[in-house]
Amino acid sequence: MRRRTRTALLSLVLAGAAAALTTTPVTAAPAPVKKVLVVGMDGLNWAKAVEANAPNLDSLAAGGTLGESLLYCPSLAASSSGPGWSTIATGVWPDKHGVQDNSFAGKRYDRYPDFLTRLERANSGFRTFSAVDWAVLHTQGTFGSAIDTRVTYDGDKDGYVAADEKVTAATAKELRDGNPDAAFAYLGNTDVVAHASGTGTRYRAAIEKQDAQLGQLLAAIKARPTYSNEDWLIEVSTDHGHSNPGGGHGGCGVNDERRTFVLAKGSGNAAGARPIDTRLTDVASTALHHLGVAADPAWQLDGKPVSVRSKDAFDGLYGSLSARVDETGIPASVKGWTHTAPSGWSVDRSRMPAGGVTEWRGWSFTTDEFWSRAQGGQDRENALRTRGVFAVADSDEFADKTGGTSFDSTLASPAYPVTGGGTAKIGYVTHYLQEGSQIAEVSVSFNGGADQVVKKYTADARATVESLNVAVPAGATSMVVKFRYYNAGNNWYWAIDDLKVE
Ligand SMILES: [Zn+2]
Repeated sequence: MRRRTRTALLSLVLAGAAAALTTTPVTAAPAPVKKVLVVGMDGLNWAKAVEANAPNLDSLAAGGTLGESLLYCPSLAASSSGPGWSTIATGVWPDKHGVQDNSFAGKRYDRYPDFLTRLERANSGFRTFSAVDWAVLHTQGTFGSAIDTRVTYDGDKDGYVAADEKVTAATAKELRDGNPDAAFAYLGNTDVVAHASGTGTRYRAAIEKQDAQLGQLLAAIKARPTYSNEDWLIEVSTDHGHSNPGGGHGGCGVNDERRTFVLAKGSGNAAGARPIDTRLTDVASTALHHLGVAADPAWQLDGKPVSVRSKDAFDGLYGSLSARVDETGIPASVKGWTHTAPSGWSVDRSRMPAGGVTEWRGWSFTTDEFWSRAQGGQDRENALRTRGVFAVADSDEFADKTGGTSFDSTLASPAYPVTGGGTAKIGYVTHYLQEGSQIAEVSVSFNGGADQVVKKYTADARATVESLNVAVPAGATSMVVKFRYYNAGNNWYWAIDDLKVE
């Protein structure tokens, strides 16, 4: 806090000096002081917030960037509050932070602390603050003891209506009268109401109340005496959705319970942008980025700043995705698959048999929304490290229609320039489930030559970021990467995303 007070004092001195000049001032204005507020709203379906009279959320969404995405589900972790808030706080997925349900058993906050703790470790001069009324978020250490001020209320005991008001008051006071660099406020009543009475009228009223509380926090920021020289990033997010209209969450499939969003206004987040490549892990990375704290690779964060777009070529297919053809459980309104590869990519379907489910005839390009509706509860939901559109070879779904019992298809990348005699580094995200005699092979071909297998999967590789080093033969100038999935029937699947070649 002391450090910031000095900065504020300096800015006053500079402002005074500038005002004293009668000619055009040449002194550059001091850089605005960067600050972050993250507001967590438990169990908030964004679609219901849009329907509600929620002017503060509407205004943030209009002036900021909103990314909607889906959560994991069992067997990885329940779409519940323990895993959800742990993911938001730490910026890593449950297979790292270890929280699979509301017991918090297996938590790894020692290895993957919350973003406020990261800030304290990066620079103890940061003033950090958190206020919650789901008390376990403090008692379990989801938001840890290194945070300068932790305010804890007990919504389970006192009721979330009253406790949310206390959280709002305490946070507003800190924002207005204190000098936080980063603050987190948790509001819980939306979740309680949806559990008790579904996502109808009472839920809408709870959202509107919570939106007004968000408004109190935003007003407190604007009332700061130093506001004119501050650069605030506001983030709003939720830990999970609720099934619609009955309420409830925790499971698989897509019944709105797995829906989350990250809303970010300020810090280069484009007004009105609706990117398809954001994930819940991005909340922490976006806050750290705004405050100028670079993510150390050793932290193994899964997030990226919301303002940064993925360079994945598959995402460019989003606007051309189609509705279901043979799949029966996917609403016709959900457009989520194509066989048309991005420019420079190709798919070999020449060894695919007649028949089978059209959508999955060879490698297809799809989304979490579409693919996990094809069949829920088979870990398709847990391809965590894909973003936006990704490639899938799904012999399990293909085999659901007569003829689809023998799958053999190859996905080929564009030709990347390489240096003969050097080493090429191949990175990609993979989500592979093994069964029976199915085979998954990654191979490379230099200057159109024979395929050389560089990786073969014979066991599960779930939500994995791969990095392969390949020796480039002397004289080679180009390299194609191929993904062949074959010898596969009514078994499982292989998903690939975000190929990078260096
Ligand atoms: Zn809940």
